[in-house]
Amino acid sequence: MILTITMNPSVDIGYSLDTLQINQVNRVLEVSKTAGGKGLNVTRVLTSLQAPVTATGVLGGELGTFIKTELEKLDVTEAFLTIDKPTRNCIAIMHDDGHQTEILEPGPSLTKTEGEAFLSHLDAILSKDITTVTVSGSLPKGLPDDFYVDVVRHINDSGAKCILDTSNKALLRVLESNTKPLIIKPNLEELEALLHQSLPTTDDQIQALHDNLFNGIDVIVLSKGKQGALVKWKDSIYEATLPSVTAVNPVGSGDATVAGLAFSVNQQLEPAVCIQTAMTTGVLNAMEKQTGAINRDNFDDIYRQITITQVL
Ligand code: ATP
Repeated sequence: MILTITMNPSVDIGYSLDTLQINQVNRVLEVSKTAGGKGLNVTRVLTSLQAPVTATGVLGGELGTFIKTELEKLDVTEAFLTIDKPTRNCIAIMHDDGHQTEILEPGPSLTKTEGEAFLSHLDAILSKDITTVTVSGSLPKGLPDDFYVDVVRHINDSGAKCILDTSNKALLRVLESNTKPLIIKPNLEELEALLHQSLPTTDDQIQALHDNLFNGIDVIVLSKGKQGALVKWKDSIYEATLPSVTAVNPVGSGDATVAGLAFSVNQQLEPAVCIQTAMTTGVLNAMEKQTGAINRDNFDDIYRQITITQVL
């Protein structure tokens, strides 16, 4: 069973309008409301791959109940810790021929006690049949920057494989600690920010993947949007090249990539197969309108068109 962790979920509202007018009444043409947050995108893609999945994190209020109901519809085992603070909304307004304006609530601020309660809750879930865990997204306000160090340690202690997809200080604190996840998945911008340098060429990027900051991490998937990915898998480097597809909405492709990784790593498949699977789910997400969604029927066709080359 794969477990996904989403510490700061949201109910994502999508509004479509012709034109966004500031200081005016704007009437919405189309509305969508979905369970959002990076870990919930991972969850949805895993269900499309027909992987048994449990989802956890923290939820509260009526929006928390909405997310639980959405997860039940997907046949996901819902194991969120309920808190007495409401889950947030995030609003994306699509307008003026392809423009997107986002309004993001910060979400609840968690206390130290709530953080500790989540770790105990996590231990109880990990004691069941969990073999791979994905940890995605930013931390809620109130929790310390090194909270994921504790989360990764609890996962490692359980014997499950850990895939961490976060950024900024939350990622840096883990990389600086002695507690290492099996896999991280920075995109190019995140890698450049971590190392405080620009990495324009493949050689620069390969060198960056060997930086001491990543010592102890077995697998680094450097995702590069439609340019594919560079992957350091233990001492080897792989390059993934993709077919050209019509990208409808690439938002969430990184989460779909994490889902593909979790799915294949959980089955202990070969590195090249894991990378090819992860790239396939990333591309499939880019081809769909919904964020964090794939059409499983196109899987084999896209998988065949992706090339994985071992370059080192
Ligand atoms: P997000 O934060 O939106 O989830 P990300 O920045 O973490 O995304 P990307 O590097 O943009 O991740 O994308 C991850 C993978 O998804 C890529 O390696 C690729 O396989 C696929 N992908 C992303 N964008 C495209 C695109 N426009 N066309 C084809 N495949 C794409």
